[in-house]
Amino acid sequence: MTFQAPEYVRRIAPYQAGKPISELAREYGLAESSIVKLASNENPLGMPESARLAMLAAVGDLGRYPDANGFALKAALSDRFGVPADWITLGNGSNDVLELAAHALVQPGESVVYSQYSFAVYALATQEVGARAIVVPARDHGHDLDAMAAAIAPDTRLVFLANPNNPTGTFAPAEALERFMAAVPPSVVVVLDEAYNEYLRPEDRYDATVWLRQYPNLLISRTFSKAYGLAGLRVGYGFAQPELTDLLNRVRQPFNVNSMAQAAAIAALGDQDFLARSYEVNRQGIERLQGAFAEMGLRFVPSFGNFVLVQVGNAPAVYEKLLRAGVIVRPVGNYGLPEWLRISVGLPAENEAFLKALRGALA
Ligand SMILES: *Cc1c(COP(=O)(O)O)cnc(C)c1O
Repeated sequence: MTFQAPEYVRRIAPYQAGKPISELAREYGLAESSIVKLASNENPLGMPESARLAMLAAVGDLGRYPDANGFALKAALSDRFGVPADWITLGNGSNDVLELAAHALVQPGESVVYSQYSFAVYALATQEVGARAIVVPARDHGHDLDAMAAAIAPDTRLVFLANPNNPTGTFAPAEALERFMAAVPPSVVVVLDEAYNEYLRPEDRYDATVWLRQYPNLLISRTFSKAYGLAGLRVGYGFAQPELTDLLNRVRQPFNVNSMAQAAAIAALGDQDFLARSYEVNRQGIERLQGAFAEMGLRFVPSFGNFVLVQVGNAPAVYEKLLRAGVIVRPVGNYGLPEWLRISVGLPAENEAFLKALRGALA
């Protein structure tokens, strides 16, 4: 070894992203336009036109640094969600917000609690600060909130909790979350990761921001990557009381959200039309995929997100056959789910292309 690196860094297994379209095209000699990618929970509508126009208008200012405090975007978020601007943290994707929490709050050797089958970034954020993960067994593929509260140790600083969860699509109702918050010691910060919040059906919706005042240890994180269609720009945000927000700000890169991203996010936030279409396309896609899986006799986890987890048996082999048919989905063996694939909802034609390829792969 020529140089020193902490053992906890050497132990990290890097994040495995969905296979890019260009890579599959290269490897299999396929035309990029013929490839269907349902692997990264991206918005099948692409980005909103409103955001594209806002970015074009922002291009002229790229010679200058972005607004380090994101004044206009925070004002727009504050306006929309009724959370004071100084309770908001902007992130280079909400991934950034998750990491800011780990960096601001956790020292090497201390512990972080999260569920089995939860978002891979929780493990990364834990490992990169040299912390110890307390991984709580899932119940029916979802978070076992009672067990998670009970698993909190004296040295636990942080709990990561995704609702809905990725990659399983499970959901904990508001009452369960409230009970959980009441059970967590006030010294332990809970990151409530709501990356898929906008996809909840009206009957499941809840407003976690009303708990912020009662719980100085609550950090809500959300993103523009999914329902707002801006995954490539990397914009997310967190809501928390000023004391916690101030700590996150201390470890934040000053210019972590670039100018184009700030401009696009403001436009997307105001684009209720696009959000409504995202919701509708997703709802129909979820129904279609789940209906088809049921018909095919495949077990799946009913999803509250923009993807469905389905059990196909030898998932690596099915994944490979789908690739050959030009369809990219997400294997989840790295999550401890070797028989399952995660399918992001596409446009209707993409969902049909996937289902046809899946029937072929399973035949
Ligand atoms: C997609 C996702 C995120 C956010 O990703 P960013 O693009 O970094 O905002 C956060 N949490 C979960 C559970 C996700 O699935």
